[in-house]
Amino acid sequence: MALTDRIKKAGRHVNQNEGLIFEESVPGKRAFDLPPLDVPAVDVRTALGSSYVREAIEGFPEVSEIEVIRHFTRLSTWNYAIDLGMYPLGSCTMKYNPRVNEFVARLDGIANEHPYQPQEISQGCLKILQLLLSCLAEITGMDTGTLQPAAGAQGELTGLLLIRAYLSDTQGKPRKKVLIPDSAHGTNPATAVIAGYEVENVPSDARGQIDIARLKEIVNGDVAAMMVTNPSTLGVFEQNIAEAAKILHDHGALLYMDGANMNALAGITRPGDFGVDVMHLNLHKTFSTPHGGGGPGAGPVLVKKILEPYLPIPMVAEKNGVLSLESHRPKSIGKVRAFGGNFGVLVRALAYTLAYGPGIRQATEDAVLNANYIRKKLEDVYDLPFDSPSMHEVVFSDARQKKNGVNTMDIAKRLIDYGFHPYTTAFPLIVSGAMMIEPTESESKKECDEFVDAMRSIAEEAATDPELVKTAPHSTRVGRLDEVTAARKPVLRWKPKENSRQE
Ligand SMILES: *Cc1c(COP(=O)(O)O)cnc(C)c1O
Repeated sequence: MALTDRIKKAGRHVNQNEGLIFEESVPGKRAFDLPPLDVPAVDVRTALGSSYVREAIEGFPEVSEIEVIRHFTRLSTWNYAIDLGMYPLGSCTMKYNPRVNEFVARLDGIANEHPYQPQEISQGCLKILQLLLSCLAEITGMDTGTLQPAAGAQGELTGLLLIRAYLSDTQGKPRKKVLIPDSAHGTNPATAVIAGYEVENVPSDARGQIDIARLKEIVNGDVAAMMVTNPSTLGVFEQNIAEAAKILHDHGALLYMDGANMNALAGITRPGDFGVDVMHLNLHKTFSTPHGGGGPGAGPVLVKKILEPYLPIPMVAEKNGVLSLESHRPKSIGKVRAFGGNFGVLVRALAYTLAYGPGIRQATEDAVLNANYIRKKLEDVYDLPFDSPSMHEVVFSDARQKKNGVNTMDIAKRLIDYGFHPYTTAFPLIVSGAMMIEPTESESKKECDEFVDAMRSIAEEAATDPELVKTAPHSTRVGRLDEVTAARKPVLRWKPKENSRQE
């Protein structure tokens, strides 16, 4: 598609004007028509207790069925989604997830299972959990693990609680500190603090790698573990990871790996083989659950044998070919989530993993290829702060455009006019004016080329017409919102105008 067509398409909603559904309301209109009552009427106030029943809902919109449908359908067309185009947010892996896995997760016998139904008729679901855990252990090179955690960050917390339990049990104390490189994901230090540890920073060297000399200086008997995001938030592989593992192990400490971005490693290398003791995966990034909008996720934790006794209960156990959920584990850290975890997400991950088989390596190679393709095509117009080879994402900075007063946020906003979702701005924090781009394996060369054309065109605009970029987006109904006020003082409730101000 020519760039100008793309811009036109991106701006296709600018002339639409959709009010709130409350503003469409006409007293007496109904979206339904119930048949006459053929059973005795019951007063809901008596049935439920009057404190649970409202007299009326103030300002409740009264509209017809087709008005409801059209209103929400029109609104849905204002959304940007992976089904409409590329979503190059770095660190988040917003990729296309196969529809067939959605179908599998919705199969009757899977979607309608209940965790309290008898184990004799839950064997299939337990098998899904058992098989998925062994697949993930195989992909990561770990021994076993837990599927319970509901997100990456909860996986991190689970992992550190396992380390605490292990150290307390085997060394008599949990130790005090967790080391975290400055290229780690922001959830890592937060997790360490919640798990009761002090955080000590490990700097990156000039290539964006963990500074091994510095690590040797600071590691001691107070260090419980190091948490390494690998690939780091710079999108580069930690080449010193095996050496870091050895240094930690020599001091009786463990190595935690944040494997949220396993889509850069799966099928190529295994954390268990380079010294990692415990790690989490984000099934809603690498393994097929769509994410964004706060939907359900899963952050399974994989561990080496030494941590097995402390894993959360219940665990799937097998005896004489019969599967059950086993809770008798005296050293367990306890439950971190109800039952087996977010089951639907786990089903998608298994469907995805089995469908790929060893082919998962191809997905990884394509993700890395796409990121490096974009890097090569843009590195003459955008500044590249670190020159280590990129993995699944590439981090530029706005250093060159800054000279004309254009920053990463402006460029991201201008991308909207070109019909792309913005990339990740201002993260990682160790790069000033960061522009973090992850195309993922889903994108074709054609889509990557259109993205490159848009980014090059914006670089040109930043040089010749910086105002155009600084005032972007120009194709949306609203331009730049006051994001701080929106977060701190959100307007959550509509009130009729004549009545009072909006709250
Ligand atoms: C997304 C991400 C996390 C956090 O995962 P959540 O599921 O959002 O809690 C942690 N680390 C890295 C590297 C990530 O990309």
